[in-house]
Amino acid sequence: MDSTIHQAGKSAYVIIGPRGATNFAIIKGAGGAAVLIDADIRRIDEVEEALRLTGCSEVKYLVNTHEHFDHTSGNFYFRRRDIPIVASVGCAGAMRDEGGPDFVRMMKPVAELYDRFPGLSLTLPDVVFSERTTVTLPGVTLYLEYRAENGHSHSKGDTTLYFEEEEIFIAGDLLYTEVHPVTFFGNIPNWLTALKPLVQNHYKQLVPGHGPAVEGEQAGRSYFKKMHDYLEDFYGNLKEIESGRKSQEDVAKHMLSGAYAGLGKTRMVERNINHFITGRWF
Ligand SMILES: [Zn+2]
Repeated sequence: MDSTIHQAGKSAYVIIGPRGATNFAIIKGAGGAAVLIDADIRRIDEVEEALRLTGCSEVKYLVNTHEHFDHTSGNFYFRRRDIPIVASVGCAGAMRDEGGPDFVRMMKPVAELYDRFPGLSLTLPDVVFSERTTVTLPGVTLYLEYRAENGHSHSKGDTTLYFEEEEIFIAGDLLYTEVHPVTFFGNIPNWLTALKPLVQNHYKQLVPGHGPAVEGEQAGRSYFKKMHDYLEDFYGNLKEIESGRKSQEDVAKHMLSGAYAGLGKTRMVERNINHFITGRWF
């Protein structure tokens, strides 16, 4: 597989998606049972291979950090095996109310998966919480916290996880490292507010939704700050397009140069701008 397995702790692994594709995390309890965090049906073989390579005997829970297809389309696969799927009420609500058309749209290029997984469809989480909850395995305590400021930040379901025993913080898509974020499902002002308390968080390893994991709190803080500054700058520029002071091309050029020149997933910039301006899908 193109992705790499990053060992974030003694019993924590992250499947780092290639070129900024989605990350999935595996937290392994004493005895080999595991909590899987996010799964994409298009990459289910990678997830299975990673579970095998990390010596996990079974998945006890699947957690969805938020509702987006690349984090939740694997739900169907695990529901078939009666594995509980944990997510925020916000995530479950967004999937119920808006997830159907998005699922169909995302499946179009990979329609062969309907043959491989008969009945494949949007599958909602079945264990939901509103503000916070705890998921445990022997030797593992995971604190889940709902972080979608005013109900809508990067998404409507944004949840972070903290693995207490190994001091690992999993930020979901509130944080992207080394790649341009996807903002077109989000509310940027709320996202900026949601990021503020995260800058103060404690951890030894930080896991973003996309991009490489980060070692240590100091480096982590600088990534949270970069994320915040990126979104603030981008939002200011979107407002300039709206008021006619800047063109879409000017803003795209700005977001692809200077401090942002090295970021991957550059195609997201144009999509983010287009969606903000037109409200339409690209
Ligand atoms: Zn997302």
